[in-house]
Amino acid sequence: MKIFISVDMEGVSGITDPEDVLPDGADYQRGRVFMTGDANAAILGAYDGGADEVLVNDSHWIMRNLLLERLDPRARTIKGFHKSLCMVQGLDASYDGAIFVGYHACAGTEGGVLNHTMLGKEIQNIYLNGEPTGETRLNAAFAGHFGVPVVVVAGDAAVCAEAQRFLGGVQTVAVKDGIDKFSADCLHPEVAQARIREATARAVASRELATPYRLAPPYRLGIEWNSTTIAATCAMIPGVGLTGSRSVEFVTDDYPELMRVLVVMLLLAMQVGQKAIYG
Ligand SMILES: [Zn+2]
Repeated sequence: MKIFISVDMEGVSGITDPEDVLPDGADYQRGRVFMTGDANAAILGAYDGGADEVLVNDSHWIMRNLLLERLDPRARTIKGFHKSLCMVQGLDASYDGAIFVGYHACAGTEGGVLNHTMLGKEIQNIYLNGEPTGETRLNAAFAGHFGVPVVVVAGDAAVCAEAQRFLGGVQTVAVKDGIDKFSADCLHPEVAQARIREATARAVASRELATPYRLAPPYRLGIEWNSTTIAATCAMIPGVGLTGSRSVEFVTDDYPELMRVLVVMLLLAMQVGQKAIYG
């Protein structure tokens, strides 16, 4: 049995601030230890539940955050950027289940710790078929395209509620409860990791209870940027159109193509979004 694990950072136990998750942040090195601990708990749980192959994808920012030497040696890990499928690189129809660890709520979620969608500064909202969509739903729909169910989502209470809303049969593990975007009531990491391991073992062993999140084509990806320049630049990509001065849309019947075009737009936005005015 093959299990895929995507590990983000903002939803990891003990993490509440950009200083914890950005490479030059004051607490980033400690944040990596917490992230690695939550990831390893899911790996151990997957093997406890009967997996015989586990692939981990480091899914946060520079995508080389996990401390590989501290992970269970049975797992393989995808490290580094660039990669065209971003947070779901490596996931395909050969997997029996997907697990999202360290995930955070959709941009604009009240009480969602470090809530954002893909880019915290440049993106106001991402829409999938007209509905505001966080990373959990975007990536779950990619897994669903291959018939793979998301069996566990671990993160803050807000992302757990988000996952419960649209993922049938998913097990969720809330490792912290948001007070504000930058504060939370946190479980001790050891307690959080024990819960992740236990829930993962249970979910993997009973994975047939979870249903793949399948959407019917066509897939409509909308992005509301914070900048007219970013929107205008993205609209230069064939097939991407402006829907407002700061909004673009891309429509396709091919979900992996939607993900690749999204990644291209993120790369462009990071390049042209650097000019800013203050005051
Ligand atoms: Zn994220």
